[in-house]
Amino acid sequence: MKKTFGSIKWKLVLLYAVLVVCVIFISGIYIIGNIQQNLYQSRYQEMKYTAGRISDTLELAYTSNEQDLAEVFAEVVTSLLNEGGNEEGLLMYLLDPSGELLYSRSGEINPADLASRTVLGAVAGEESRELYVHQVTENGVERTVGDYAVPVERGGETWYILLLRQSVSDIEATMQNNTVIIVMASLLAIAVSALLAYFLAAGIARPIQRLTHRTQQMATGNLEIASEEPSGTGSSDEIEELESNFNHMAQELNRILSEISSEKNKLETVFHHMADGLVVYDVDGFVVQCNPAALELMGRGVATERFGEAFPTEHFATLLYSPEGTIAERMLELDDHSVRAEFAAYGNEDGASEGLIVVLQDVTEQRRAEQMQREFVANVSHELRTPITTVKSYVETILEGNVREEETLVSFLNVINKESDRMTALIGELLELSRIDNRQVRLKMEETDLTDLLSDCVRRYRILAQKKNQTMEMEAGCPPLPVECDRSRIEQVLRNILMNAVNYSPEGAAITVWSSVDHEKGEGALHVKDTGMGIPYKEQKRIFERFYRIDKARSRSSGGTGLGLAIAKEMMEMHHGRIELNSVPGKGSTFHLIFPLAKKEETDEEEEIDLMDPDLDPQSWRPAGLGR
Ligand code: ADP
Repeated sequence: MKKTFGSIKWKLVLLYAVLVVCVIFISGIYIIGNIQQNLYQSRYQEMKYTAGRISDTLELAYTSNEQDLAEVFAEVVTSLLNEGGNEEGLLMYLLDPSGELLYSRSGEINPADLASRTVLGAVAGEESRELYVHQVTENGVERTVGDYAVPVERGGETWYILLLRQSVSDIEATMQNNTVIIVMASLLAIAVSALLAYFLAAGIARPIQRLTHRTQQMATGNLEIASEEPSGTGSSDEIEELESNFNHMAQELNRILSEISSEKNKLETVFHHMADGLVVYDVDGFVVQCNPAALELMGRGVATERFGEAFPTEHFATLLYSPEGTIAERMLELDDHSVRAEFAAYGNEDGASEGLIVVLQDVTEQRRAEQMQREFVANVSHELRTPITTVKSYVETILEGNVREEETLVSFLNVINKESDRMTALIGELLELSRIDNRQVRLKMEETDLTDLLSDCVRRYRILAQKKNQTMEMEAGCPPLPVECDRSRIEQVLRNILMNAVNYSPEGAAITVWSSVDHEKGEGALHVKDTGMGIPYKEQKRIFERFYRIDKARSRSSGGTGLGLAIAKEMMEMHHGRIELNSVPGKGSTFHLIFPLAKKEETDEEEEIDLMDPDLDPQSWRPAGLGR
């Protein structure tokens, strides 16, 4: 209720009503006052006229100074009344120049009533300028009368004073009627204007109420209302303009808020899915935000721990108040991984620090890659230095002329030759790996029966096995294995595996090979099994790494470089296949080369795959010399 009458609509109605009442009241008083004034004025004129007639007639009738002035006056007045004027109820008094009553037409009069303002003025020689209205008591009855007094002169001196008095009750009655009419008219005007004011105020208040409703809705978070079209009247007054401006502002606000919210969502998505860990601390070192990557790197505790607990070696205040733009970098060695942490303070617009952001990056892989690269360079240097040192020492011995027997010289030269071959093989394999890494190897794909290829290889390398009294046999009844591949490259892989089987198996060992097809999986495989020394379980994965050898001396003496299986693995992957190993230490090993089977329709044409084309598989590019 209070709210209703306190509303702008009712305030406007009230204001309008008060204004109308004031205007009507003031103008009513003015009109009533004016009418009264006019009525008194006309009564004054009438009395003045009557007094003029009496004094003129008296002047004519008073012919001798012997005559009694009062008597003449009585006659004159009587004759005037007989003539029938408008002097009904008019009291006439004749006073001497000092204001003493000489004659009264209406009987006795209270002398106190004669001492009125008009009479005093006339005694002083002044005619009444307006009707003097006052109360008199006649026969115990009070009534309101109007007086007019005029001094009549003769011979330069006041001869007598004429006082006329008439009741103004008729004027009062008229005024009363007028007042009633004006009051009634005012009440009607107030009622009509209040009604008008109500409708006018309602019209003004409606858009304001709509605005209020919309702002209330917006304040409760319903921003959708901002995009709704306003139901205005379409008029173009200031309030409608205000409403339309407000709606425009609200729509803009809504648009900006939704932009901010979408930006926030984007940032949150980035924050939650970024690979780097991110922890945000406030100025007291409490966690404000922490993303899943940070939890994974630092453990779940980081989300609840204070800065000092999560990073005990760091000094929070130093980092927090470091100059703007400073990023402190630290390496953290955690249980099984290395993390690079970057600390940067963030501040408000005035540059005051508000907290610390910690970016965490798992650099374990990077470090391993760097380590591998370092090892690779060390391995290459070492592998090259060994044969060079051997060659150099043999050449120096020969040059010194200490080798006299031809037999010794030939054996020296054989050593030099063998070491040179090893260096050539090493450099060849390094170049091959570098070409693979740089995607410079072109595979000449053609449909090849790998069972055929395997039996060819066995025939070719059996002789080497036989030199060590080993057997190298292919199982009977192997199925044909048609595969899309680069025949020479697969032959190179097979050669390496067969040679390893020979090299890492003792005299008398048996090497067996066969092929198989798994139509269900769409795969075919070549298998090479030896009864050699086998490979320790923990080293089985590592033998495919570059330069990884279980027994370096043995590998070297057999001309191995430690790169053969690494190249074989890369080659198999380039053919979309893989290489697998089963080995029991001390009993022997079986290598499996697994290929996807050739699809019939694609086997018709010879296809060349250009691995230099980066579009084929950009992910697999990596710098030369880096192992996987
Ligand atoms: P290498 O040139 O030394 O033979 P590879 O890359 O071909 O290099 O092989 C890596 C290592 O794997 C070898 O040094 C050897 O220790 C081990 N290895 C490979 N094949 C066999 C096998 N058939 N039996 C036992 N060990 C093997």
